[in-house]
Amino acid sequence: MKDGNKIFSHQDRAPRISEASNLNYDLIVIGGGITGAGIILDAALRKMKVLLVEKNDFASGTSSKSTKLIHGGLRYLKQLEFGLVRETGKERAVAHENICHLVHPENMLLPIVEDGTFGLLSATMAIKIYDSLAGVKPEQRKRRLSKKEVLSEEPLIKESRLKSGIVYAEYRTDDARLTTELIKAAVRNDAEAFNYMQVDNIIIEKGKAVGIACTDHTTGSKQNFRSKAIISATGPWVDKVRQLEDPKVESQLHLTKGVHIVLDKKDFPINNAIYFDAFDGRMLFAIPRAEIVYVGTTDTTFKKDLDNPHCDESDALYILNAVNNFFDIKPIEIHQIKSSWSGLRPLIQQKGKGPTELSRKDEIFNSESGVMSIAGGKLTGFRKMAKRIVDLAENKLSFSSNGCQTKNYKIHQNPFKDYSSFKKWIKNSEKKFGHLYDKEDIRDVCYNFGKDSTLIFEESAQNNNNLVLGQLKYCIQKESVFHPLDFFERRTGWLYFKIDHVRKNLNKVVNHMNEVLKWPPNMKQKILEDIHQAIANNSLVKFKAKIDTQ
Ligand code: FAD
Repeated sequence: MKDGNKIFSHQDRAPRISEASNLNYDLIVIGGGITGAGIILDAALRKMKVLLVEKNDFASGTSSKSTKLIHGGLRYLKQLEFGLVRETGKERAVAHENICHLVHPENMLLPIVEDGTFGLLSATMAIKIYDSLAGVKPEQRKRRLSKKEVLSEEPLIKESRLKSGIVYAEYRTDDARLTTELIKAAVRNDAEAFNYMQVDNIIIEKGKAVGIACTDHTTGSKQNFRSKAIISATGPWVDKVRQLEDPKVESQLHLTKGVHIVLDKKDFPINNAIYFDAFDGRMLFAIPRAEIVYVGTTDTTFKKDLDNPHCDESDALYILNAVNNFFDIKPIEIHQIKSSWSGLRPLIQQKGKGPTELSRKDEIFNSESGVMSIAGGKLTGFRKMAKRIVDLAENKLSFSSNGCQTKNYKIHQNPFKDYSSFKKWIKNSEKKFGHLYDKEDIRDVCYNFGKDSTLIFEESAQNNNNLVLGQLKYCIQKESVFHPLDFFERRTGWLYFKIDHVRKNLNKVVNHMNEVLKWPPNMKQKILEDIHQAIANNSLVKFKAKIDTQ
């Protein structure tokens, strides 16, 4: 079905669930992060009958908590991971081609400093290998900068240790939006997907997995779904889902936590994305985005509650110390952090290796009943990961298809021809709607929703030019938001990048959603508490209080 106007909403969830529970799917995918999203799209394009279930919102796990780079990972060359760098490096251009409004070229500045991770020679060699493994076009290849040139680009870098610099090509994305668009594309191609549907058990008959038993968190009801094959793409939860079947099964994952903090550009006014040395031999990214700069990440072994990997005071101080050490700025303090996020890397265990040394490769595990689990890997490699495991599923099912179709598949229903058309689109939107809305908001809507931005501008115009309402209505109708945090955190990114917008629009959004989605009684109060808690956690208020009273 190629229905451009297909609704994907909680408003028609009940009949869809009832229909899904009467089918026997070819494939069920557990987990609505980037890995599961890549798999459902690949399977749907092969014409498999496929269902995805996600226990919270789509992309609510690691896939909204990354550094948001579509990259090959320069540092993995130091670990001699040539295969991984080649694959993810090449996938960058594929992702850009297939959804350019969400995968933007971003020049990365690597300052070369005395006693840094990379010397000029090793950096030049590494980037040369990187560019050639990834098949980067000659005009986009690295550029060397003298110390003077680096300082003219970034006058805030401390001069004393600086020797020179290199600019190389990367891409920046919005991980949660990319995940959502993949799932929407699968649904357009006849797949089914439910968020807030948690798998409690694998249904096994005669030793073979034949379905899943779930709880629907929007109603509390129990639902079973049947299928011929099951893939668990549950990221950090992969071991937990494997243990549903066999509690004694050995863990395969080593989880590490990665934190990012968000600073006001006024406090940290850099011009470029910078990959810079921390004081302990690690490297961090500082990435400007409109009025903020986000910086990360940490990489520490994590053994606590998988559903709540918060930013600790020590994480925030580590990143701030790295910034204050490398840049000549008025030292930034913890109370200046505007927001933060914290995610878990589902890395594959390797005996004797520390968090930073662990490979980022993906792996597939098979359970006795036939459930396949996939973990590890990178956001950037989602398409190839999906291809590998759907190939296996296809074989297992003896399903006959035309094979993987995702390489040249335009993910958005109204794709841009190329990146310059996208840039023109933004300019035209500013011209057309600039008298109604703030220019930065117009850009934001174009970046988030691509050509569907027009639907949002027009809908908003019919509601007293209320752009928040326009975006909310779109996300309710076409992106299955159920909780206001789905909207604030994953569909718009405001919880991270525009926290003041969340505070300002909180009541409006909550009231509209309650009216339209008809939440169960008492839920509104609980939802308001969730949002206040999320704002407090992300903006690190408890640590601010500590500092403020010192
Ligand atoms: P997840 O996104 O965690 O998805 C798994 C989903 O399964 C979750 O949404 C969860 O709710 C769901 N689930 C769990 N149990 C159940 C159940 N019982 N029933 C139903 N659903 C369930 N990669 C890059 O390419 N570029 C980067 O810049 C980058 N930066 C990173 C920075 C950090 C700090 C981290 C932590 C990772 C980074 N990565 C990056 C790696 C990348 O983010 C991850 O590899 C990727 O997001 C993992 O996706 P996933 O779908 O496997 O897991």
